[in-house]
Amino acid sequence: MKITPSNVASSDCLFCRIVAGDISANRVYEDEFCIGFPDINPQAPTHLLIIPKQHISSIAKAEAEHAALLGSLMSATTKIARDENLSKGYRIVVNTGDDGGQTVNHLHLHLLGGRHMNWPPG
Ligand code: AMP
Ligand code: ZN
Repeated sequence: MKITPSNVASSDCLFCRIVAGDISANRVYEDEFCIGFPDINPQAPTHLLIIPKQHISSIAKAEAEHAALLGSLMSATTKIARDENLSKGYRIVVNTGDDGGQTVNHLHLHLLGGRHMNWPPG
């Protein structure tokens, strides 16, 4: 894989530090490629973050070579949703860039459920 600034793990990156175990998180899910843990500031009764172990700064920086990784992130998220009994539905959110409201520059999927979600989002 090519090494670019967007995929080099960084000790400055909060989520890389969680992957490394330097910052604790309750790993409700883990596989070879990704981990899932509760958002520290939950916006719904269930609010989990699913992140790749590999540092990718945002979905906007994902390349064709990341296709399998993105697929495994999404399928991990739907598996977690089943495990969390979100049978009435849920929302998966990928905030991207400043206008998208992204605050942590390590790709992450928000899995939100346990209440009705409004549309359009704020
Ligand atoms: P975003 O705004 O989409 O970049 O989402 C980043 C999310 O990370 C926010 O919802 C934060 O509440 C969450 N967050 C920040 N620090 C931590 C942490 N140490 N553990 C779990 N979630 C965190
Ligand atoms: Zn990172």
